Amino acid sequence: MSKTWIIDPSSIEENRGSFVYLVYYKATVEMKRGKDVRFLEDFTITQKDILDDICPDDDVFISLWSYPQIELCRLLYLRIPQAKFFGYSPLIMEERLPLYIMSREEIYQGIQHYAFYTDTFKHLLLSDCDGHLKDRPEVYPLCGIEYGCSRNCSFCPVTPNLPGKTKISIPLIDTIRSLENYQKKTPGSGVHFTDEDFFRDVKKAKFILEENQRLFEDKEYGPSVIALGSVNTFTDFLDSFNTDAEAFRFCKKVGLFLVEIGLETADHGLAAHMGKSKIDAAVRLAERVRQAPVKILWLTLSLSPGETIASLNATGDFLKEYGLNPKEMSPRIRTNGTRAGLGQFFQKYPGTRDYKSIEEKGMTLSTRPSRLIPGFIPHSLLKDRVKEVDNSRKEEYEYWLSLYGAPMMTFFEGGRVHQMIDILPYPRWQSIISVCVAGRLGIIR
Ligand code: SF4
Repeated sequence: MSKTWIIDPSSIEENRGSFVYLVYYKATVEMKRGKDVRFLEDFTITQKDILDDICPDDDVFISLWSYPQIELCRLLYLRIPQAKFFGYSPLIMEERLPLYIMSREEIYQGIQHYAFYTDTFKHLLLSDCDGHLKDRPEVYPLCGIEYGCSRNCSFCPVTPNLPGKTKISIPLIDTIRSLENYQKKTPGSGVHFTDEDFFRDVKKAKFILEENQRLFEDKEYGPSVIALGSVNTFTDFLDSFNTDAEAFRFCKKVGLFLVEIGLETADHGLAAHMGKSKIDAAVRLAERVRQAPVKILWLTLSLSPGETIASLNATGDFLKEYGLNPKEMSPRIRTNGTRAGLGQFFQKYPGTRDYKSIEEKGMTLSTRPSRLIPGFIPHSLLKDRVKEVDNSRKEEYEYWLSLYGAPMMTFFEGGRVHQMIDILPYPRWQSIISVCVAGRLGIIR
């Protein structure tokens, strides 16, 4: 019997949108079909001997969903000519590798049965945010209501990669079965709902949270849930209760511990260009949950085209008020949702709205960009001029720089950002972190 090989080349990326899970969905579907599956997770070249076992009539699917995987994918293609590549389709097409697009039916089946195969996987790939639930026995990722997002924000690769650009709806029965299975396998496990917007259907979200809580009766732990949402839908969710007090009692009861919302920036103009919610609505929501048991992790994107010192100041000012306290977070996640935590750095992704014009909009630092290392600096920031400098907060500046290992910088009024980073003996990707941190803290304005 021929075998089915699924190879996920190693990447330094942890997560970048729901399509990262496709490799697990594909492995699930093939196992469910009864195929003889060899799933090589986090494949590196040290495992190369195993490739000798691949026969010419075996099916081979290799995932390519992030830039750092490209070289390994090229090498594997030379070695395995029958391989097909799936993951982030526009990048695979740009690489001119043979493309395999998972159908909507396959993605749905993968989500439907994924929970039943988790014990056959070596890794459960989660976003950084699982660090918020580090006291749980295990944190499971689950797409609870729908896969994908059709909002097509200017920078985001989720919509361009969605088959047919239409979201895939997950029936409630499948979600409840998956949750039951997780609790059977690892009682007390936390759940991270990977839907791009878990609160888009308020009634379904409430039902799933209540059903999840039911599974914790008689258990040592209460439920613990992380979910992604948006300003508008999480506001609608809170509005669906008679009072905020009632809404927050519900959140506490069902263990809704953290809601992640992609703010990206608190600069009005930049947010509008990206296609994000209005900042005033984000402020209203942030005020509403200030004392609530459910916290919001405001996710941000730094160095996107249009970023300026003023936009860094605006985001820093927002997160000073409404961000999480880094000292209360596990170390590796302190750089997101916090005042000078820069979140993800902008990556140019083929297929996104701004991709074709991106070269004119800034300086590319890497042809293999990743989320947590600056790979692009927009001209809007490079050309920006420092108008005010506050040199009195050295200790605070040092603390935030230490989270990145970034160098201390001295700023002067009237200087442009590109002049300041070019006189330093550090790589630009490192110096620009120091500029952004200073901007977030208001050390430069
Ligand atoms: S709302 Fe925008 S950023 Fe979030 S998943 Fe959808 S397209 Fe991407």
